[in-house]
Amino acid sequence: MHVLAYGAQAGDQPLEPLRIERRHPGPDDVLIEIAYCGICHSDLHQVRGEWAGTKFPCVPGHEIVGRVAAVGRQVIGFAPGDRVGVGCIVDSCKQCQECAEGLENYCDGMIGTYNFATPDVPGWTLGGYSQAIVVHQRYVLRIRHPEAQLAAVAPLLCAGITTWSPLRHWKAGPGKKVGVVGIGGLGHMGIKLAHALGAQVVAFTTSQSKREAAKSLGADDVVISSDAGQMAAHLQSFDLIINTVAAPHDLDALLVLLKRDGAMVLVGAPASPHPAPNVFNLIMKRRTLAGSMIGGIAQTQEMLDFCAEHGIVADIELITAQHINQAYERMLRGDVQYRFVIDNATLVPTATPTRP
Ligand code: NAP
Ligand code: ZN
Repeated sequence: MHVLAYGAQAGDQPLEPLRIERRHPGPDDVLIEIAYCGICHSDLHQVRGEWAGTKFPCVPGHEIVGRVAAVGRQVIGFAPGDRVGVGCIVDSCKQCQECAEGLENYCDGMIGTYNFATPDVPGWTLGGYSQAIVVHQRYVLRIRHPEAQLAAVAPLLCAGITTWSPLRHWKAGPGKKVGVVGIGGLGHMGIKLAHALGAQVVAFTTSQSKREAAKSLGADDVVISSDAGQMAAHLQSFDLIINTVAAPHDLDALLVLLKRDGAMVLVGAPASPHPAPNVFNLIMKRRTLAGSMIGGIAQTQEMLDFCAEHGIVADIELITAQHINQAYERMLRGDVQYRFVIDNATLVPTATPTRP
């Protein structure tokens, strides 16, 4: 089956209309007509070749929402017309300890939604900047938000789960002080989710202009991270800091804000390494510097259901497919509040048929 998509032929080329092939749905597969897809900074890192191993043509997109168009004969619980989502994972080995524990995100055989070799069709996976996708039922999420919120639900599938997972693992909640560094797609969801979990939330930003907006997202306080005085006011006070920054920066300035036994979790994945932190900032207060990658399928469903129950969605700017390249430039300037989402109904046919 051929569908329309948007992707790049090389790391230094803009994204353009493409035609790609989707596999015929097997017995366990769900065919999803994609309504909207969020633009994650990871899409930009990958499609521009900032991370190693990009395969071209590359069709990014792992914040996918849409409706079920058809199901295989073994599919249980999904029917045509259902509102569903797909995040960063479309398959895994289903046999290892991680898969058994619902941590498919840490399975060595995890297959990401784009840029991963796939056993069932030649080539590699192609993501959600496309009209439709075929996914094994295990990796399809239910969306319980109202229809009108569908576009704003899309970013929950990556930005939402990537911040939810460490908040849950490090037990953010009442009585805990949580910092969120970088108010972009991930960071703005981190603020909303930490606040909804009952934690005291402090947002760290490099952008003076985001100060008031961060409070309306649920931050109790906002710190301009370049202001030494504002930083010093929070020394040794945080239980947890979620760091979403997409560029190398000084980690020590943040580590010293953790109290004894506090943890800073890196979720931002810059193309080049951070300067190595001073080990004494870890040793002296038994602090932890950790990382976290997206989240498992069950936890993604937990986050979606929590958000539906609490009326939480992302703050989005809806764009046409023709504006994807401009959106990338604006995301690099931090000029988005706070996530671009593509209206996939605006994908248009390409003049020349293409496929990987
Ligand atoms: P984004 O929307 O571009 O937000 C990143 C924010 O970081 C910016 O809005 C900005 O916030 C801050 N920032 C950017 N450059 C900075 C710099 N040089 N110094 C300090 N702050 C800077 O990106 P995103 O989609 O949220 O993604 C963030 C990162 O997480 C990316 O590297 C992405 O690849 C990664 N990611 C990781 C996972 C995972 O599983 N671990 C999942 C998804 C994404 P302020 O303006 O507030 O300072
Ligand atoms: Zn992402």
